[in-house]
Amino acid sequence: MSAGDSHIMPTYNRAALRFVRGAGAWLETDTGEKYLDFGSGVAVNTLGHAHPKLNAALKAQSEKLWHVSNLYQIPEQEKLADALCDASFADLVFFSNSGAEAAEGMIKAMRKYHAANGAPEKVTLIGFHGAFHGRTLAALAAAGNPAYLEGFGPAPQGFVHCPELTLDAVEKLIDETTAGLLIEPVQGEGGVRDVGTAFLRGLRALCDKHDILLGFDEVQCGIGRTGKLFAHEWAEVTPDVMAIAKGIGGGFPLGAVMTTKAVGSVMQPGTHGSTYGGNPLACAVGAAVMDEVNDPAFLNQVQDMAIYFRQHLARLLEENSDMFEDVRGRGLMVGMKCKIANSDMVAALRDENVLSIGAGDNVLRILPPLNVTQDEINTAVTAIEQACAKLRAGE
Ligand SMILES: *Cc1c(COP(=O)(O)O)cnc(C)c1O
Repeated sequence: MSAGDSHIMPTYNRAALRFVRGAGAWLETDTGEKYLDFGSGVAVNTLGHAHPKLNAALKAQSEKLWHVSNLYQIPEQEKLADALCDASFADLVFFSNSGAEAAEGMIKAMRKYHAANGAPEKVTLIGFHGAFHGRTLAALAAAGNPAYLEGFGPAPQGFVHCPELTLDAVEKLIDETTAGLLIEPVQGEGGVRDVGTAFLRGLRALCDKHDILLGFDEVQCGIGRTGKLFAHEWAEVTPDVMAIAKGIGGGFPLGAVMTTKAVGSVMQPGTHGSTYGGNPLACAVGAAVMDEVNDPAFLNQVQDMAIYFRQHLARLLEENSDMFEDVRGRGLMVGMKCKIANSDMVAALRDENVLSIGAGDNVLRILPPLNVTQDEINTAVTAIEQACAKLRAGE
């Protein structure tokens, strides 16, 4: 079928590839071609494709119970919430189906906290240049990228944006209407930008000083992606509220808002909800992901692979300085700023049977599964070398 005949709304420029199965870091097309998946479905396939433990968890739950709604207690949800809270700053969790919904829930909880604590005027959220929080209207307003809001009418009010990642610039925006700050500890879509340990610590101090809330969006950088369960652990600071999604489901749609007791307990019956959010299938898979990833040996292995990969990329950067400007990110959340169009680099890598993703700031984004092997990294490095050589030769 040609693209013109498709009944799929044309919101994506899709590559002409149809994958029909996957195993580990590898995908296979309908014509039997194999691709190394270093995009992981945009940081989702934490453990690669068809991981036996995730398959087993999904299969076992699918034979017991799929869905009951949040009108009833859901033991799988309780189990996953326990695992998430035991492993983090959080005391309370609300489950959603996606990152945008998690970001939206985070925004609502931050505002409600102040309203419930006698400061209903504190509604403004401060977002950051280069941010991405999803495609719902409030998430778009929080990120403030005008291109994504264009044509969709008036944006939700109560969002301001900090043009640079400096504490002075942030503090200038704080006033008596500020509810809190919203930031990705490592920006993903915006260009794989690590905002830095000192900056995160400074933001925590600013929030404490002004009695406002700190919200982290770890939808992309969380769940082991940077080599810690949550990226903010590198800075040894904790937020008041955090959104996660992507990696927690390992490929099954799942997100969550995680909060301190003080924030989450204002979300009383009737304040928020979701029909599907945290259904038994999603939570059974999420718990299996947590079992694998929240293990010091697993996270150490992520860090080791990240160091190995980055050593190769540093050499690659030196040898291909006509193609790349820098290597950035943290752990297995890797960005390479391109000197050619990043879309050309993604396409050239695809021609070498390696999948990667573009990001803002003309960055090539590389997100291998977290259980990637040295051999697979070697394959990707060789493919990048080949892609650069062919691009240079004009092939
Ligand atoms: C992908 C992403 C989102 C949105 O997640 P969806 O599941 O696509 O709604 C939000 N925040 C960040 C940081 C993301 O990377």
